[in-house]
Amino acid sequence: MSRGFDAIIIGAGLFGSFTALFLSRLGKRVALVERGLVGAQSSGANFGGLRLQGRSREQYPLSLMAQHHWETFDTLIGETCEYDRNGMVYFAHSEGGRERLLKYAASSRAGGLEIEVWQGEEIGLHLPWLSGGSLIASYSPRCAVANPRIATPAVVRAMIRSGGVLFERSEITDINRSQTHFTVSGPSLPPISAPVLVNAAGGWAGAISAQFGEPVPLMSAGPPQFVTEPLPYVLRPSVYAIEGDMILRQVPRGNFIFAGYPRTHANQDGRHTFVPPHKILNGMRAVAKHVPALRNAEIIRVWSGVEGYLPDMLPAVGASQTTTGLFHAFGGSGGGFQIAPAVGECLALQIHGQEVPVDMAPFSIARFTSSVEDSEKLAREFDQPSATST
Ligand SMILES: Cc1cc2nc3c(=O)[nH]c(=O)nc-3n(C[C@H](O)[C@H](O)[C@H](O)COP(=O)(O)OP(=O)(O)OC[C@H]3O[C@@H](n4cnc5c(N)ncnc54)[C@H](O)[C@@H]3O)c2cc1C
Repeated sequence: MSRGFDAIIIGAGLFGSFTALFLSRLGKRVALVERGLVGAQSSGANFGGLRLQGRSREQYPLSLMAQHHWETFDTLIGETCEYDRNGMVYFAHSEGGRERLLKYAASSRAGGLEIEVWQGEEIGLHLPWLSGGSLIASYSPRCAVANPRIATPAVVRAMIRSGGVLFERSEITDINRSQTHFTVSGPSLPPISAPVLVNAAGGWAGAISAQFGEPVPLMSAGPPQFVTEPLPYVLRPSVYAIEGDMILRQVPRGNFIFAGYPRTHANQDGRHTFVPPHKILNGMRAVAKHVPALRNAEIIRVWSGVEGYLPDMLPAVGASQTTTGLFHAFGGSGGGFQIAPAVGECLALQIHGQEVPVDMAPFSIARFTSSVEDSEKLAREFDQPSATST
């Protein structure tokens, strides 16, 4: 005999947790099932960037809806996530980068963002700590950051307060479907069933979609991340080299967090992404080159995470094309932390049969039934550009 719910969500990352929260608030009896601990994978390991600049055109409506939720997180959730509207700078140190920066600035403006572009002496005036050699920079005041370590647990606590049930340390290993219901179970999860199943399994979601006849070229990988000792707090905006070799921010506690492409593929156990030694050295060189004042900063920790990337770098969010009652929410493709609140709300509304305020067609898994164009970012941001099916 299985315990019954209205919806089961696989994966308590930020996509699954926000979906579970909004469904609970719509009055659904929700079971959120997590193999490990809440928010301990990509959603807790990420850089914390709520970046709006440089998103693809199709993502802006979703992304702006999400930013509103981040801006009002404390009211929405009832706890803080250390949201900080610190602004974000892109700078370019190559001709190719300059062209890309201007393109991103144009598409960000078309998407509704306010963007300032700085050239020549203006760069030194606004960014005096940046080494010479930067050709151009753009600034977006609405970009922000939040603390990934605390955001997902806060969302899940809000879900529980709204009546949702969390099953932690409960891997789902069996999924069966009858005419009307899904029944899921695992070694430490007695069977539970529901007419709705949400696949929010992050870098592991490809195996679930494939089980239902919807294989996708999902790639599991992560960028290296570094944190320094705490230093005097001097840097307010997040700073991204558009070439990808350095992404930097400072938390008010003083530590600098930085990252840099290319991303590394997850290792064979599928549960970790290692940071190879040469990438540690490359990351340290890049930060010392672009911000010379940090050349002697001590790095106290290095890590990465397992994130699901789709070749067009857009997420898969919405109804399955093969199975009634199955919905997908995965493939954050390096930008899923920012869009997660809107992914969760839009999916919950769709499941509840209500109107969804943004066009979700670009994110349909149906796009993989024909050939999907690779994002220009794919070759640039990964060690090996070829995607592998999981
Ligand atoms: C190092 C790094 C830096 C990043 N930086 C940024 C950034 O600055 N800004 C940004 O917007 N995005 C960033 N991202 C991406 C972002 O973290 C994700 O897109 C986002 O958190 C969405 O995650 P998710 O919920 O899809 O996946 P996850 O957080 O990985 O959650 C999926 C969950 O499903 C669980 N699960 C899987 N299979 C099962 C199963 N069978 N049974 C039960 N549970 C299961 C997993 O244990 C996991 O907890 C970064 C990612 C990484 C790795």
